[in-house]
Amino acid sequence: MPRTFDDARSWARLGTALFLRAADLGDAGLDAPSALPGWTRRHLVAHVAANADALGNLVHWAATGERTPMYSSPEERAAGIERGAAMPAAELTTWLRRSAEALAASTAALDQAQWQFPVVTAQGRTVPATELPWMRSREVCVHAVDLGTGPAFADLPAGFLGALCDDVVAKRAKESGPALLLEATDTDASWELPGEGEPTVLVGPLHEITAYLTGRAHALTAPDGLPVPALTHWL
Ligand code: ZN
Repeated sequence: MPRTFDDARSWARLGTALFLRAADLGDAGLDAPSALPGWTRRHLVAHVAANADALGNLVHWAATGERTPMYSSPEERAAGIERGAAMPAAELTTWLRRSAEALAASTAALDQAQWQFPVVTAQGRTVPATELPWMRSREVCVHAVDLGTGPAFADLPAGFLGALCDDVVAKRAKESGPALLLEATDTDASWELPGEGEPTVLVGPLHEITAYLTGRAHALTAPDGLPVPALTHWL
């Protein structure tokens, strides 16, 4: 079932609350590594706070018509993460909370015409502002898991996981990679990824398929004891 605008808005709210709770840590907790290679939890928190500010730029663009990109450059994006990662815990988590509140307030103020306004993402895609809640929900939900402080893919709504698999498969289908057929055992959903040779069939719970597709730790095994084909990192 394709995701709706209302779904995405509710997942963005839920994921933001989940991330804020999972990131409510002191300096020692924030110093620990996240599940993302080379990043501490501090980097992840700074990235999610900066993402709210950056999406806020797109909300401003949609609201006013004035061209305000997410980040002025990849260097500016990286510098923001490093600056945030160097902040004391209280300052960093205050930025996280305030940026989330500001984004929620600015999106809530958009009218119907403004929601349809085309904006350009950091990846260079032109999308209507109605895509912003989905972009935010992906960041907060997936990175809440990446923090490694409790939330798991199994804790996220099945509708969100299915929509995320749709999204990742659409992106991966344009790149080269292994041919796959993924079948969820707890829903009747399945995904086909084109690639070279006969597809490897992977069967498992939806949350494990999501973890695998997004390049995160998972418990899927291939038939006949063969190794699960490796996937490149995503998001
Ligand atoms: Zn991210």
